[in-house]
Amino acid sequence: MPEPLTPGDLLALDRQHVWHPYGPMPGRQEPLVVESASGVRLRLAEPVHGSVELIDGMSSWWSAVHGYNHPVLNEAVQAQLGRMSHVMFGGLTHEPAVRLAARLVEITPEGLEHVFLCDSGSVSVEVAVKMCLQYWTSLGRPEKRRLMTWRGGYHGDTWQPMAVCDPKGGMHELWSGVLPQQLFADAPPHDHDTDAVPAYSAHLRELIARHAHELAAVIVEPVVQGAGGMRFHDPEYLRVLRAACDEHGVLLILDEIATGFGRTGRLFAAEHAGITPDVLCLGKALTGGYLSMAATLCTPRVADGISRGAVPVLAHGPTFMGNPLAAAVANASIDLLLSQDWQTEVKRIEAGLRDGLAELVGQPGVRDVRVLGALGVVQLDHPVDMEAATRAAVAAGVWLRPFRDLIYTMPPYVTGDDDVARICAAVRAAAAAGQPG
Ligand SMILES: *Cc1c(COP(=O)(O)O)cnc(C)c1O
Repeated sequence: MPEPLTPGDLLALDRQHVWHPYGPMPGRQEPLVVESASGVRLRLAEPVHGSVELIDGMSSWWSAVHGYNHPVLNEAVQAQLGRMSHVMFGGLTHEPAVRLAARLVEITPEGLEHVFLCDSGSVSVEVAVKMCLQYWTSLGRPEKRRLMTWRGGYHGDTWQPMAVCDPKGGMHELWSGVLPQQLFADAPPHDHDTDAVPAYSAHLRELIARHAHELAAVIVEPVVQGAGGMRFHDPEYLRVLRAACDEHGVLLILDEIATGFGRTGRLFAAEHAGITPDVLCLGKALTGGYLSMAATLCTPRVADGISRGAVPVLAHGPTFMGNPLAAAVANASIDLLLSQDWQTEVKRIEAGLRDGLAELVGQPGVRDVRVLGALGVVQLDHPVDMEAATRAAVAAGVWLRPFRDLIYTMPPYVTGDDDVARICAAVRAAAAAGQPG
């Protein structure tokens, strides 16, 4: 075993060599060194702003829904490790992946029957887009290759996903001349804006009707737009999209990478609208935050269409496709979720977030406070001072990662009421710290 690095050495090497998400090289902000994590707590290598343990308000970007170091998930990984950690998926198969695929078909909206396992959310979106483009090519309609989405979305960081992320204010405006030019509807109105439903629905219908000849698919995040702005919309728009896509011969992709596995109060956000997409992307909480794995599901119509083409195969096959360790922990995570009354837990957290964030409503500097399921969002009327806001949250014993004008939390479902209250106090402190002047 090599000598352990001191936190100081580790940070120096990190700064010299390691790129962090959406960061410059070398980094400008010093990351916190996490030594271990258990339950809903991250343990730091040394105290920072007076805290050595932080309550995780982020579930490691929506993924660690059961918290960290969970005995059931640990056991699933260990048992699989003793059998095999990986084998290629070309020409071989194994129980963890087969079980997972069958389970996903069983729990996702009716009609999705085929599962493509892949490495990450962005890749699952690539696969979804490839499925849809190839579907139309196979059917002799290769001109149907554009995508439509609405503004304010986020679908990942590889090329096809970037092209359907919000083109303004998003992270990808740098590439606007390089990416395929996709079709953007206006951002969906907020869910409480019921007056906007007829006009916005008409806008969606009109765009789909006008562009159907060139559209392969519509791709959206259902009910909650995540990293594109943490906005919530009326599920009615999903029914409008489903109907207009059916009427005009366009496929519908739902990206539930963030919303899947209970976050919004339903197991999948599509259930709020009672619709089935043609293609569904899952990721993030799929493995309970243990390992990187995502899935693209589709209907028999899409699979059959592809199979009828001149090239009847889906030309995609990641090296680590169907990884047995990840599939085993995904199975365990899904079993764990469904074996408990998770809906009550999510409702309990929703109530705690509503309570704890209510006093921010109408405060100076606060534009909006919104809560849905185990997700709480405070939108400021100015860009957040990320460093000051993070410092205030850490000093309050909570890990948050604010961005743009947003301070938000999506805690693990196992977060107790006291910890939810502490997270809310930290969000309030972060909102106050972000105030100019
Ligand atoms: C995070 C996310 C992605 C990308 O997933 P990665 O695993 O980070 O590649 C895509 N879509 C949505 C809605 C996401 O939240």
